Amino acid sequence: MTTMLNEGHVRVQDVTIRFNGKKGPVIALDTTNVDLKPGTFTALIGPSGCGKSTLMNAIGGFVKTSSGTIALDGVPITGPSDKVGVIFQQYGLFPWFTALGNVRFGLKRLGLSKAEEIDRARAALDEVGLGAHADKYPQQLSGGMKQRVAIARTFAFGPKVLLMDEPFGALDAQTRLVMHDLLLSVWQKHRATVLFVTHDVDEALLLADEVRVMSQAPGRLIRHYELTQARPRTFSRSGSDLLTIRDEIIDLLRPRALIDA
Ligand code: ADP
Repeated sequence: MTTMLNEGHVRVQDVTIRFNGKKGPVIALDTTNVDLKPGTFTALIGPSGCGKSTLMNAIGGFVKTSSGTIALDGVPITGPSDKVGVIFQQYGLFPWFTALGNVRFGLKRLGLSKAEEIDRARAALDEVGLGAHADKYPQQLSGGMKQRVAIARTFAFGPKVLLMDEPFGALDAQTRLVMHDLLLSVWQKHRATVLFVTHDVDEALLLADEVRVMSQAPGRLIRHYELTQARPRTFSRSGSDLLTIRDEIIDLLRPRALIDA
């Protein structure tokens, strides 16, 4: 089920997205170009309202581009597809299904036999350390456990691309660290192309191969960092480069820097 490294190539070319806002037209994304290489992990960071979700939703096929194209492996994205998985901050679990039922629901589209579906869903829950909680309902699970179910559900159906919109934003700091390790281990096994939106500079630097910084009004990608430090990373272990980049990004995200950009 490992994604081949030549699959999951997302190419965003000259994409502009306009909305009709309450006070008139809004350019949420301005002439944006970005390549998400197969199997890589990209973090997208920027101030609130800069267009992160819009870019993510456009790649997911939920929002149409006003101009420009987005393609997955050379095929234009015209709507949501099974090739793209999405994980949001609010888990998106069905409260009337158990953890196992939620993961099975995500597998329905594959047309497996019932036995295969259950086996695959159990294996996915085992992978995120929830094998013993398969029969619990979401309301019986902590926030971190719910997000593990969401991760299991998404990776279980084998998407080529995984879009994550502040997936750990509602979790406490300690749980976040545990979730980082878990996400990296599941991703390293399945190797989907990940686009991960976060407000947290440290989270971006600890997780990603590439960090892309956006500016606001209109939303544009203004800086790009490639990170090659071995994982798991920490700021003390991973060298001074990471700290230098952290300072640069924090400066870029200061309101004054955004106005001048
Ligand atoms: P972020 O995810 O970085 O917080 P968004 O992508 O949600 O930013 O929003 C970018 C801009 O587009 C904001 O000004 C927002 O108000 C506007 N916007 C987003 N979606 C819509 C919509 N459906 N209708 C009108 N304006 C929108």
